[in-house]
Amino acid sequence: MNLQPLTCIAYSTLAGLSLMLAPISIATAAAPQVKTSAPGYYRMMLGNFEVTALSDGTVDLKIEELLTNTTAAKIKTALARAHLKDPVETSVTAYLVNTGSKLVMIDAGAGVFFGPTLGKLIANLKACGYQPEQIDEIYITHMHSDHVGGLVNGDKIAFPNAVVRADRRDADFWLSKANMDTAPKEAKPVFEGAMASINPYIAAGKFKPFDGNTDLVPGVSAISTYGHTPGHTVYMVESQGQRLVLWGDLMHVAAVQFAEPSVTIQFDTDSKAAAAQRKKQYADAAKRGHWVAAAHLPFPGIGHLRSDGKGYDWLPANYTALR
Ligand SMILES: [Zn+2]
Repeated sequence: MNLQPLTCIAYSTLAGLSLMLAPISIATAAAPQVKTSAPGYYRMMLGNFEVTALSDGTVDLKIEELLTNTTAAKIKTALARAHLKDPVETSVTAYLVNTGSKLVMIDAGAGVFFGPTLGKLIANLKACGYQPEQIDEIYITHMHSDHVGGLVNGDKIAFPNAVVRADRRDADFWLSKANMDTAPKEAKPVFEGAMASINPYIAAGKFKPFDGNTDLVPGVSAISTYGHTPGHTVYMVESQGQRLVLWGDLMHVAAVQFAEPSVTIQFDTDSKAAAAQRKKQYADAAKRGHWVAAAHLPFPGIGHLRSDGKGYDWLPANYTALR
């Protein structure tokens, strides 16, 4: 069969079409993909308090290597069920609470301590409508670098008018040169990060440790959850009968640790105590129905917990545009 005539018609038709469509297709193809996301903040009201989740960015975590008290096969299954692959892109989030009289930040992101994918906190703080000078108080859940690194900019205080507060047990542990000297080699950078971040505030008389459960400013209190670190603390925020508990590193991997609260992580100083604290806070959140927020849940990391009998389901916050 001779296809020549048909091919000629097809070519000439196509040529005509492409002439007609040329300006449109060029315009469509020329728009470069932007490949950046929205500014990393999310805002909601809690009673009279304004709460803002502030993204410090994300970091890839090798979950199979990091999780303990489980098996690689179980982790694989859990990640597959959540449509995730190892390493998991993991959020690092701090939270801002404007009580109306005090501007409080919980944790401070990683600063320069975890590479270029983190350290976005100040940019997102400015994007969300505040300046670093406006922050009155910063409450630290624990002194790992992804929670304190952003307190400093080089050797300078990044929040010039803020008082930094944390449980004394964490300060005594992570700011001790003697502990650092006897720590395993791989743990030394964690001590160095804590010292580099907190010591400038100590030198300026702006670090005020507390001991255990403490009322801080009206509506915000510290609750001891020692385990992940010696002084790990969660913060309870309450206004007009509404409650939000900011968990810090009470848990790390949503796809695994809600269904299996007993799964622990290598970063735990005392993993048994960390698991017990996690179970207690999970049960409390599910029973009382209050809001929770955690630093490494997918951004903005705010939601509720529901017991499913064996473990828990995570219910991310329904989006609010604050109309
Ligand atoms: Zn962390």
